[in-house]
Amino acid sequence: MKRRIFSGAQPTGRLHIGNYLGALQNWAQLQSDYDCVFGIVDYHAITVPFSPQEIKKRVFDCAVGFLASGIDPEKSIVMLQSLVPQHAELTWIFNCISPVQELIRVPTFKEKASQQKGNVNMGLLDYPVLMAVDILIYKAEFVPVGDDQIPHIELTREIAREFNKRFGETFPEPKEIVRPRMLGLDGTNKMSKTLGNCIYLDESPDEIWKKLAPAVTDTRRKKRQDPGEPNDCNIFKSYHKAFSNREELTYVEKGCRNASIGCLDCKRILFDNIVKELTPVREKIERFKDKKDYVMDVIIEGSKKAGVLAERTLREVKQKIGFDYLS
Ligand code: SF4
Repeated sequence: MKRRIFSGAQPTGRLHIGNYLGALQNWAQLQSDYDCVFGIVDYHAITVPFSPQEIKKRVFDCAVGFLASGIDPEKSIVMLQSLVPQHAELTWIFNCISPVQELIRVPTFKEKASQQKGNVNMGLLDYPVLMAVDILIYKAEFVPVGDDQIPHIELTREIAREFNKRFGETFPEPKEIVRPRMLGLDGTNKMSKTLGNCIYLDESPDEIWKKLAPAVTDTRRKKRQDPGEPNDCNIFKSYHKAFSNREELTYVEKGCRNASIGCLDCKRILFDNIVKELTPVREKIERFKDKKDYVMDVIIEGSKKAGVLAERTLREVKQKIGFDYLS
């Protein structure tokens, strides 16, 4: 039996290279060795203001991004959270063993609460509990996440421990598989659609170059002849390291330090590599966008399979807490 992984993405719309490198590319590699459940977690997405029409489109775009990045529905389960109602039911049960004082301390809650002061809803506070459910309802042992999600996985382990202690061994304590977060092209902030500092998976080479050419580099290189330090340059640390091969990295490091290459030369090498990697993904995005029925079928069928696993866990939980009226 393969060991199970759960990972999820919020339907935030067009996917960018941060999503690709931080999650999707890794997921596609993991699916041969693990039993994977990949979720489009739309209940998480409604903790912030949303439009019903827009969210439906975003779910579709997110599924297209999954498939175009190599997630194979023959190997992995692709599910939509709101189509598996067991997530919401188990969340209530977990709510009743989750201390509020710990949820209030979660960094993402503090951050979101300060960003949307007029809409500090219960969903924001409860977000990590629902995330714990997303993982534990499939008894996943590993969770690929960004480093900002580590506190959520710690809380997931605490909830699993607490449940096991009170009601008997039921859940594994999952471990995180951490992927480094890529900074946006501004070199300061996390990639964000709002800040416009990201490259989308469906952008054309021309659009990519327009964003890459002015991207922030080592600020010490004010002129072409100024030497730079690649390890202080986001273009090198975040992007070249992800897209370029060893020889290219050595060439860039040396050329940057002795100023034999300029930043635009350096970005050209990177640009070629990004285009080589992303062109097949972009072409697949275009193809899947034209196959709406197929994409929706993948989500619906995947959610049915996920529902069977989730129901099995929920029944076990209900039995353990004494809610076994129907068994
Ligand atoms: Fe960064 Fe490359 Fe410019 Fe060096 S040459 S500062 S690594 S963009």
